[in-house]
Parts: sequence; structure tokens; C-alpha cells
Amino acid sequence: MNAEFARFAAAQAQTDRQAFNRFLASKGLNVADAVSKERAKQEFMSLTPLLDDGVAGVAHQALAGAVGPPVTSITSTVWKRVDMTHGGIPCVGTWAEYGAWHLMLAQAVAAKGEGIAYSPSVNRDGHRCNASTVQMTALILDDDGTGDWFTLWAVLMSLGLAALGHRSGGHREGLPKWRMVFPLAAPFDTSTPESVLAWRSAYASARTVFGALAGLVGPGFDPATDGPHHPWYPGSRRSLADSPREVLQTHGATLNLAALLARLPPPLLHQGAVQREVGLSHSGLPPRGPLPASLEGDQAASLLELAFSEAGMLGRRLREGKLAVICPWNQSHTTPLPSGLEASSSTIIWPSTSAANLGGFSCAHSCGSPSVELVLDALPSDAVWRARQRHIGADRPGARFSPRIEIDPRLPLLPVHLNGLGH
Ligand SMILES: [Zn+2]
Repeated sequence: MNAEFARFAAAQAQTDRQAFNRFLASKGLNVADAVSKERAKQEFMSLTPLLDDGVAGVAHQALAGAVGPPVTSITSTVWKRVDMTHGGIPCVGTWAEYGAWHLMLAQAVAAKGEGIAYSPSVNRDGHRCNASTVQMTALILDDDGTGDWFTLWAVLMSLGLAALGHRSGGHREGLPKWRMVFPLAAPFDTSTPESVLAWRSAYASARTVFGALAGLVGPGFDPATDGPHHPWYPGSRRSLADSPREVLQTHGATLNLAALLARLPPPLLHQGAVQREVGLSHSGLPPRGPLPASLEGDQAASLLELAFSEAGMLGRRLREGKLAVICPWNQSHTTPLPSGLEASSSTIIWPSTSAANLGGFSCAHSCGSPSVELVLDALPSDAVWRARQRHIGADRPGARFSPRIEIDPRLPLLPVHLNGLGH
């Protein structure tokens, strides 16, 4: 491996989804100490592993060699509300119609985590989970305040790549928050646990490429959005007082992900991701995804159970209502779970008897029994948000968060050609 490749690989490792936990471990910090943890987080966010000329050089060369044929259409699966995990609608439209759909929703009003959710994927039965996601049709990256998008747009324009960028709901002056969508030259197969791993690996590499080209600080684009099941929200404003979210779209070339990967160092897939996929696929859960039966049965799932489920870190059911989970601090364990192993019974959650039904957590490693809030803090924030929404709904069926989204009734819900149900 040449020196630039080594630096690229190092930057990727320093920005992956376990990087912050390893950073904490390297400082010998106790994760249960919220004050030191917050201080460490700020320090971590100010690191700049992606602002390295060698890394950017590898990234630019790889992207220049990954320019595919012109974009025509894009296939998505759309859920009318993010708390729906079934009933996804297959939608096919031209790239221009996809942009028009985003423009329409950019004017809509939706509270954080509410409104329409979609996935740039082909889904076999409309169930929002990895097992039902057959192919990915686009790469979407999420930036949450680690830099703005102008540098990246300049690179994309110079290479003639097609992209759709939009500000997210929480964007504000001085704290840019945005997403970028790159249509793929060919659908990426995610129909088996092994191919899901390949997608996560490809996602990690592409995230590093675009993060370096955008000149982002800290971890750059969010590393926790690499699952094919991840729901994406078009950018809608949070209230009528906000201006409509900005949407920019360019036509041009698709992203040839295979060509991009071929120009990068061999993929480094983090152990955490391997355990999640391979472990869950062998744990005897229903074939349609990591969703234990209790989530849909009479017994209300605890907030922790929903959060581990949304994060894809729930393992098998144990005795007495306990569930095995992947420890969010696995990388800090003296002996982290090696790849290929499922969640073991040394880290568990259990239902609680209190009315709040938050659940309990215990890890036989050094983690002990931190509070529910500390555990939630260590899980991907988006997964926790969805879990909280589902938890509210489960407790108070009559109080389901409505209306989800306010759209002028004269507008169609989706552009006609995007609406896969047909009219
Ligand atoms: Zn642990």
C-alpha cells in the first residue's frame, strides 16, 4: 500500500462509526462521565483527519475514475410516515421528477423526524429493514454541521457528476446541515447478509472520499447511516416561519461505485458492522429483519428494545424477557466481540416494570449498568429518535403524532410518475 493509500485508510478508520468510542478509550475516559464525555466529543469534532492533501488526492483520483453514464431515472421506496415500518410504496421517476419531489417537500412543514421517509432502494415487500431491501439505487450522505457544501459542489461540477443536495430540517445560518444524493450507475445488490456488508463497506469508502473532497472536519458525513434499511427524509422546514429548504440539483453522470472502490485501498470494514449484520442473520430472528415478534405483539416494547432494534443491534431473545444486544461500547471492551459473532448474552436489555417502560441495560464487561439515557446517548441518534416516536405511539395509541406533514392539498402527494401506485 502506498503512502497516500495508507493515509486514506487511516482517515477512514478515524471517522468510522466506532471512532469516537475508540477515541474515548484511547483517552482512558469513563463513558459514564457525561461532562468529560461532552468535552471529549468537542475535541473529537475538532480533529481533521479528512483535511489531508494526501487523502484528498486519493479521493479526487478515485472519483474522477468513477464517472458513469448519464443519469436517467431513479427508483425509491417511500413510506408516508417515518414511524411506518411496513407499506413502503415503490416509486420510479426521472431524475428531474425526483428533484421536483424534493422541491415540493422543501416547502412543506414537518417536525423533526416526522413526515415522509424514503429509501433509494428496491424493496421486496415494503418492509423497512435490511432483509427486505434488495438493491440500493443511490448513495446518500448526511452532514450534520461539520462543514458546508460549496467545496464539494465545485468538485462535482468539474467532473460533471449528477447530484441532488438539500438542506435538512435543522439547517440554520452558521450551522450548515445538508444531504447529498448520488444516483448510482448500476444498482448495488443488498439481497444477502454478505452483500449488505459489502454495501456498508462501500458506503464507508465513499463517505471518506466525499468527506475529504468537501473538506469536512471531525468525522465528516454521518457514519451511522450506512444500513440499507436507513430511512431518509426529504428536507422540509420545521415551521412556517422557516424559509423553504434549499434544494440544488445537477444533471450529468451517475456514480460508478465499483470503479470508485477499485481505485481505493482495500475496504476496511469495521468489526462493529460485521457483528451487526452477520450476527443478526444467524440469530434465528424472523427472516424479514431484526425485529423480534414482541415489537408487534401485545407486549409493549421498552424504549431500549426499540432503540436497539432501530440501530440494528438487537440480538436473540433470552429467558425472562431479556434480549441479547451488541454493546454500544463494544470497541472499548478489553476483548471486543470478534467479527462474525452474534450478540452474546454478556450484554443484555430487559423490560422494565415501571409505567415509563424504558427498559434496563447491563453489560458484563466494564460497562456495568449505566442509565438508560447514557445508553441511548451511545446509540445512533437517528435510531433513538425513531425509537422515541414509536415508543410514544405504543404507549398512547390514540395520540399518534398527527398531522405528520402539512402540504397544500392542491398539490399531489407525489409527482404522478413518482407514485408507483399509478393513477
Ligand atoms: Zn459493554
